[in-house]
Amino acid sequence: MTATTVATTIATSATPDRVNLLGLTKAQLEQFFVDHGEKKFRAQQVLKWIHHAGVTDFAEMSNLGKALREKLEHIAEVRPPEIVSQHDSADGTRKWAIRVDGGGLVEAVLIPDRDRATLCVSSQVGCSLDCSFCSTGKQGFMRDLSAAEIIGQVWLAIKSFDAFQSGKGRVVTNVVMMGMGEPLLNFDNVVSAMNLMMEDLAYGISKRRVTLSTSGVVPALDKLAEVSEASLAISLHAPNDALRNELVPINRKYPIARLLESSRNYIAAQSDNKRVVTVEYTLIAGVNDQPDQARELAELLRDFPCKINLIPFNPFPQSDYQRPSGNAVSRFWQVLVDAGYIVTVRTTRGDDIDAACGQLVGQVVDRTRRSERYRNAGQNQVTEAG
Ligand code: SAH
Ligand code: SF4
Repeated sequence: MTATTVATTIATSATPDRVNLLGLTKAQLEQFFVDHGEKKFRAQQVLKWIHHAGVTDFAEMSNLGKALREKLEHIAEVRPPEIVSQHDSADGTRKWAIRVDGGGLVEAVLIPDRDRATLCVSSQVGCSLDCSFCSTGKQGFMRDLSAAEIIGQVWLAIKSFDAFQSGKGRVVTNVVMMGMGEPLLNFDNVVSAMNLMMEDLAYGISKRRVTLSTSGVVPALDKLAEVSEASLAISLHAPNDALRNELVPINRKYPIARLLESSRNYIAAQSDNKRVVTVEYTLIAGVNDQPDQARELAELLRDFPCKINLIPFNPFPQSDYQRPSGNAVSRFWQVLVDAGYIVTVRTTRGDDIDAACGQLVGQVVDRTRRSERYRNAGQNQVTEAG
């Protein structure tokens, strides 16, 4: 292992009653200024200072005027979350452990690949949905991240390369909401943060390069179509409901047919008609990696506008599942390719720093027992999707 570890602390602690401007969208920031008797256009200036220039200190926002800067110091702050540690892998992957208010830890990972670099972002501390192969799910749920804590991961990644305004080119070209948590169960904050990722006055990342991954919270996905243009990935992992019920418990509430229908509606609602859904399929040895299951999957997805991403299972200590052999992965891949699908296999990156996307480990205590409620709940279980 050639990883290096750097410990940094950028953030200061929260100041009660001050609004953290880091997580506000353009519309929200405009409202903030109007509410405080200021001109709307101040929002544009402040957005650029925060997200283009990486500035957190109002005193440095030179085009605001002294009186406004002083006023902002009293009523607002720009406070990114706190980096606990930063690890660099030999292959260029960089991973951060991030402490959020209240003491929880989440992780973000930047995975460079040729001319692009994908940041894998967390949306919750833990996750309540308890998928059988997921280390985050095994930790239970602690709380939702705020919009500032979500967009703060993008901010921190760029800051860590000292790349705001440095002319070093784009540090983050793509974002995937595939870190800890189920993004659709933290709907408003995730939508606001993705909005900032795509906003030209903030990060200006194209809507095709910001991807929300969901295990299938169908009502929230239906709602997402009304407010977001981000790309969509769905965590399928099984070719039929019987197996998916075991692997992804939320399937018992929203079975495959409903998830596929809702996903199809989501891309149909987008302004461009060339969109496809990314179908994620984690391959687990002897569980869902057999050629018959690949054929069943090919049949299931016939006529569904998608590409397929196969993810060999990443083992972790609390799980008895095994990663499939290279041969099993190839066989599965071949069946799908022969059936006419575009299929990618996720290569493991940052192995030496345990940085696999979707397998981010933090110390999470389930203080809310929400996981338990999800396991036992009836019809109303997903109302917190917003
Ligand atoms: N909650 C969302 C996003 C986070 S998980 C979702 O489930 O889609 C991101 C991806 O990593 C999902 O496709 C998830 O199924 C996958 N994943 C989780 N644990 C994994 C593991 N141990 N090995 C391989 N993939 C895993
Ligand atoms: Fe939650 Fe996604 Fe993990 Fe399932 S796979 S437990 S939805 S983070």
